[in-house]
Amino acid sequence: MDDYLAAAIQIVTAQAKVRVMSEDEMSSMVKKLSASIRAIGESADAVEEVQIDYAAAKNSIKEKSVVCLVCGSTFKILSSRHLASHGLTPEEYREKFGLKPKTALVAKSLQRMRKKKMQDMRLWEKRVHKKAVPKPKKKEA
Ligand SMILES: [Zn+2]
Repeated sequence: MDDYLAAAIQIVTAQAKVRVMSEDEMSSMVKKLSASIRAIGESADAVEEVQIDYAAAKNSIKEKSVVCLVCGSTFKILSSRHLASHGLTPEEYREKFGLKPKTALVAKSLQRMRKKKMQDMRLWEKRVHKKAVPKPKKKEA
């Protein structure tokens, strides 16, 4: 039995104690009450959904900035340190706002730059490795 129905039956039972009710009356009252209690419950849920705006969450990662969905501040990188100030880990943050687990909390342009840098670094490492160039020793001062 769901909660709505249980709540409705409770109300009708209380009513039946104070006045004479036919079976039909009782069952139709249970029906009506459970429907309206459910409607109240659902509208409460809807309000919560408005508070967490998933579309806004997706749009929070912009070309040149990323917006913290908790406090509305703008960053280049939404650091785990900042999220900790809201009592969240990056994982919890993503989950809370419906972001994919691998979403980088970094401005898009910066993310591209980072990616490129990583690729460059990898290329560089490969090159160094192939040639087996010893690291240039620093002259002792
Ligand atoms: Zn914040």
